[in-house]
Amino acid sequence: METEKQKKRVQIYVIATGGTIAGTAESSADTAYCAGQLGLDALLATVPEVKQLADIRGEQLCSIGSQDMDETIWLQLARRVNTLLADDNCDGILITHGTDTMEETAYFLNLTVHSDKPVILVGAMRSSSAISADGPANLYNGIVALADPESRGRGVMCCMNTKLIDAKDVVKRHTTDLATFEGDGCLGYVYGNRAFYNRRVTFMHTLYSEFDVSTIDRLPRVGIVYGYAGCSAIPFDAFVREGYDGIIIAGVGDGNIHRNIFPSAVKAASDGIIVVRSSRCCTGPTCLNGEVDDNRYHFVASQNLNPQKARVLLMLALTKTHDWQQIQQFFMEY
Ligand code: ASP
Repeated sequence: METEKQKKRVQIYVIATGGTIAGTAESSADTAYCAGQLGLDALLATVPEVKQLADIRGEQLCSIGSQDMDETIWLQLARRVNTLLADDNCDGILITHGTDTMEETAYFLNLTVHSDKPVILVGAMRSSSAISADGPANLYNGIVALADPESRGRGVMCCMNTKLIDAKDVVKRHTTDLATFEGDGCLGYVYGNRAFYNRRVTFMHTLYSEFDVSTIDRLPRVGIVYGYAGCSAIPFDAFVREGYDGIIIAGVGDGNIHRNIFPSAVKAASDGIIVVRSSRCCTGPTCLNGEVDDNRYHFVASQNLNPQKARVLLMLALTKTHDWQQIQQFFMEY
């Protein structure tokens, strides 16, 4: 029988991208800090305890505040994660990331990583030099979850403030609070040295995703237009003029579009630009043929995706088709 010592150790790979988790301030009481200052080794040195859980290797992909995240880095990251996970010597990947756009990166990877091995993003709301910095605990919990066999096949997750939240649901809801990340319900949580799961994701992701970015070096251009009382059509029309392939409207309520924009949206859709209705509301779906007759105008309804995640799915959808009905189907399934 295999002894505990002979059991293969879990192999975790860390990809560092910067963010507040790697940020430092002049004083531990400062709110102002510089993101992405600590390199990977310094970051891992804040949690020496992880060596008991797994063998850890890693690399620094970039050192940015995630407000500067872009599609080029997403493509690099997705390719790197796929390559690493294809290796038998990698059991899971931890990505350290700024919290501002963590939900978008997580969702992008959820649709472009083709493996059932776990991929988890962690970050921090307080810089590494702050009083009660939350980075080390998030790092530790992320590695606990990656080392737990129960984490396989759940899609890409974020592990923040002990919660494990799936990439489709996760949203940064509060600008500064530690408990900022929420989902419609968490998949689970980390306590001590174990991950505890309460539910599974039913939408398509990772192994079942049909989006492949292995040979793509540029994603289609998709912009977001924000809705508000008395809003102007200037931003929408500018995206059209610039030749954008798709436009997401962060509409009001159930994805409703102001009359100042509506004619531009109808014209764009009839000219073959994909127009997706989403909502500026924090929660709730933007329903197909809800208050707007999408079938008549050939609009796509974002269903459960907020505007920034609808943009991620639309960019990937446009790598496969420009047919609005097929794209609507993607929004139902992913
Ligand atoms: N601006 C920072 C970033 O997203 C915030 C954070 O990491 O919490 O990189």
